[in-house]
Amino acid sequence: MAKTIQAIRGMNDCSPTETPLWQWVEGQIKDTLASYGYSEMRSPIIESTALFERGVGEATDIVEKEMFTFVRDEESLTLRPEGTAGCVRAAIEHGWIYNQEQRLWYIGPMFRYERPQKGRYRQFHQAGVEIFGISNAEADAELILLTARLWKKLGIDQHVSLQLNSIGGLEVRTKYREALVAFLQNHLDILDEDCKRRLHTNPMRILDTKNQAIQEVLNNAPKLHDFLDEESKSHFETLCSILDAMGIHYEVNQKLVRGLDYYNKTVFEWVTTALGAQGTVCGGGRYDGLVAQLGGHSTEGVGFAMGLERLVLLVQEVNPNVQLARPVDVYVVYQGTGTTAAAFNLAERLRSALPQLRVMQHASGGNFKKQFKRADKSGAKIALVLGESEVENNSVVVKDLFGEVDQITISQTDVIAELTKRFA
Ligand code: ATP
Ligand code: MG
Repeated sequence: MAKTIQAIRGMNDCSPTETPLWQWVEGQIKDTLASYGYSEMRSPIIESTALFERGVGEATDIVEKEMFTFVRDEESLTLRPEGTAGCVRAAIEHGWIYNQEQRLWYIGPMFRYERPQKGRYRQFHQAGVEIFGISNAEADAELILLTARLWKKLGIDQHVSLQLNSIGGLEVRTKYREALVAFLQNHLDILDEDCKRRLHTNPMRILDTKNQAIQEVLNNAPKLHDFLDEESKSHFETLCSILDAMGIHYEVNQKLVRGLDYYNKTVFEWVTTALGAQGTVCGGGRYDGLVAQLGGHSTEGVGFAMGLERLVLLVQEVNPNVQLARPVDVYVVYQGTGTTAAAFNLAERLRSALPQLRVMQHASGGNFKKQFKRADKSGAKIALVLGESEVENNSVVVKDLFGEVDQITISQTDVIAELTKRFA
């Protein structure tokens, strides 16, 4: 036998028994976004490497070490590690956000070269949402309300909590960065290699180090909120007051800065303790400078992305009773002269009349015993049986495979009414 070829490390297949849950989660996301009037956009999975260097930032984990980059025809290309840069690129390129507000969303695979573990993969999936052209805190609040509604629909709302912060504008961060670096210079002895490197490239990222000893020292570090400008402060107060009025609980976490360079003012994360180390299911923030940074007319933006693998894991963990669609509702079995054509006709008629039903027709021959085995295996509730005498009488046997109702023989004219009743 030939040697088999395996999937690439950190890149997962989704089995036919897993897809119903994925489809359900994706369906809840799409329904929620639709109920807020958002529009889907789609963009390529590969972009110019320069887009991410400029859009995500040179000193971020993503650009420093996580990108899948290759050269083709002397052009450096990268599998997208996140969706915002590509969304902004497309929006500028096609004028979607020129002098107009937009509420957009996307869903699809992202690629990061990370060490694979539970909740962290090299190909993973995000659903992301971006609002363009609105500077008010109302937009930030709307995004948080939208996510809170989604958690309810997914049945995970009791297991996620909201972390919120304001990181101010560029000027605030420049001043704060200086103060933080000055403070950390006095604690060089406790900094690990990663933090020492970040001290010069991206010192604010040190705030979310997982190193406990450094975290304790950081408790005495200068506080970002003491540096906030009036505009960022009042923006944050408005956001908090809307969330308060709407009954959304949050914790202000002054150490939350998020990994990407492009954020300003609001940043937030929805976190869970139910998934171990990979606890952030959704992260976002405001990025008023990004559109201009990527060459567009200065346009405010605010958005977030959620990791679908982590959401699916969380639903499995805390909401095991979610009702998923059966792959097959009705299985058509038949045997004998003239029954093949009758079965095709019956199955097609059902699919036209009852499009919500999943009708599978047996196709691989064999006697009734074998066919009923297939019917059981399909998970169908009802088997419709056609033998020669049924075809002759224009009738059909309706058999409840779960054994809840006795088998009956009815006229084929009544089959649609009967199935409507059975699946009501
Ligand atoms: P983390 O701190 O977990 O590395 P991040 O800050 O890099 O997350 P973002 O870039 O903000 O993550 O992406 C938004 C969401 O996408 C994350 O909150 C997470 O749910 C998901 N995500 C990010 N990286 C991965 C990955 N490698 N595998 C699975 N999901 C991921
Ligand atoms: Mg990361």
